[in-house]
Amino acid sequence: MNRFAEDLDDNRSVWAATAAPIDACPSLSGDVTADVVIIGGGFTGISTAYHLIRRFPDKRIVLLEARRIGNGASGRSGGMALNWINGVHADTPERARRVYGATKSGLDWIESTIREHGLNVRFRRIGCFDTYTDTARAEAAHESAEKLASWGIPVRYLSGTALAPYLRARGVVGGVLDETTGQLHGLDFLRGLTPLLRNWGVGLYEDSPVVRIEEGRTHVVHTPNGRVRAPVLVLATNAYTARLGYFTRGVFPLHSHVVATEPLPLERWREMGWGDTAGFCDDLDRIAYASMSADGRLIFGGGGNGAYSYRYGGRTAWTGPAEDKFAFVRRVLERYFPEAAGVRLEHRWTGPVCATMTRVCSMGVGGEHKNVFHALGYSGHGVVLANLAGAVLCDLISDHHEPWRDLPFYQRRLDGIPPDPIRWAGYHIYTKFTGRSPRKVLPDE
Ligand SMILES: Cc1cc2nc3c(=O)[nH]c(=O)nc-3n(C[C@H](O)[C@H](O)[C@H](O)COP(=O)(O)OP(=O)(O)OC[C@H]3O[C@@H](n4cnc5c(N)ncnc54)[C@H](O)[C@@H]3O)c2cc1C
Repeated sequence: MNRFAEDLDDNRSVWAATAAPIDACPSLSGDVTADVVIIGGGFTGISTAYHLIRRFPDKRIVLLEARRIGNGASGRSGGMALNWINGVHADTPERARRVYGATKSGLDWIESTIREHGLNVRFRRIGCFDTYTDTARAEAAHESAEKLASWGIPVRYLSGTALAPYLRARGVVGGVLDETTGQLHGLDFLRGLTPLLRNWGVGLYEDSPVVRIEEGRTHVVHTPNGRVRAPVLVLATNAYTARLGYFTRGVFPLHSHVVATEPLPLERWREMGWGDTAGFCDDLDRIAYASMSADGRLIFGGGGNGAYSYRYGGRTAWTGPAEDKFAFVRRVLERYFPEAAGVRLEHRWTGPVCATMTRVCSMGVGGEHKNVFHALGYSGHGVVLANLAGAVLCDLISDHHEPWRDLPFYQRRLDGIPPDPIRWAGYHIYTKFTGRSPRKVLPDE
């Protein structure tokens, strides 16, 4: 096995356990030529293939996935499909409307694609909360929500009896609701799109890890049993990208440990404090995130140092024991919902979040011949952004940059993360002593 394939997780998420199976795509064998070769079969890669083939039905698009489609974070997330760009504080009406509008278009694209193709995808678009556990932070969030609402952004602050029908979580004093957001079953979506793309002629290859890239005017992309030659390369490998030798100082894979409960009637959850909402993220630096499926499974992750980890060398697979991590996540879950203490956990998994130093992602193009495209670094906020990336990359590949130039992720330089062992030591020392994760906070953009 090559080092990339070795470095991919085997543990199984609730999404993998509950998605309908689909036929496997073939593994690449022999030499193939294409107009565009995409590496990575998550939201970024699949949405890019979707937009490209719809706009250019005659182009030959090839996508190489190391394992199965959705093997990475897209099939392991917390499921929350959210607005905004992590790390960006949009503090003018124009900027806020622009950033919110861009991510909202990503959410709308997911919904309209499901509808247009009649895909059987569980997407509960009933709204998610940003919750606050501290009165001062809650007051600031209240003020900010009112300002955003006055700029036409549909968010509202709720507390006390107004919040209770949605969420009664211990220690939560208020929350900002955005009803345009929701919970997406990521593997339903990816497995719905896969046969469509194949029917439209996209060459999808699974079990085809890229082991070497020879960059040039025409790239040669090597897998163990085949090669693809193409003038355009798309890196859609997010947290795995540094393993291919790109963005080695720009991103680091941060393992997030997640649990999912047994399915329970939603009325039972209402008694325990979870009402009419699809999810919430809290206000702590090492955020807790949670979402609820229509069949009553609570998916819960984060909540403190104990729920995240960095592996030396930027390894993207979690192969060690993780009992303490899952026990930690369970304690945070019970801290918010004490009555859920007896609820059984049915699934536990980890996945690599692709964090950047500022938490802002990047979408753009580089390489000596300006033909290596990328979208990555969503910093735990990629369910929507990675799906939006397809529209962005399709435009950039078509040399149509104008629609995206003013957004913070456009051609964003990613750097500032030292190599190991400084990174490993710095991460562990910093998180241990501060309880926070290292980041560079940007001034309002
Ligand atoms: C535990 C967890 C919880 C999360 N929760 C949320 C959430 O609630 N909301 C939210 O917005 N975001 C969340 N995220 C982030 C979000 O899931 C990601 O940002 C998003 O899915 C990234 O999609 P992607 O397609 O860019 O990357 P991925 O889904 O990681 O896809 C990359 C693909 O590349 C493949 N690959 C890697 N190396 C190679 C190679 N050498 N050759 C070929 N293929 C290769 C991988 O197998 C993988 O399938 C979470 C992430 C994790 C890990």
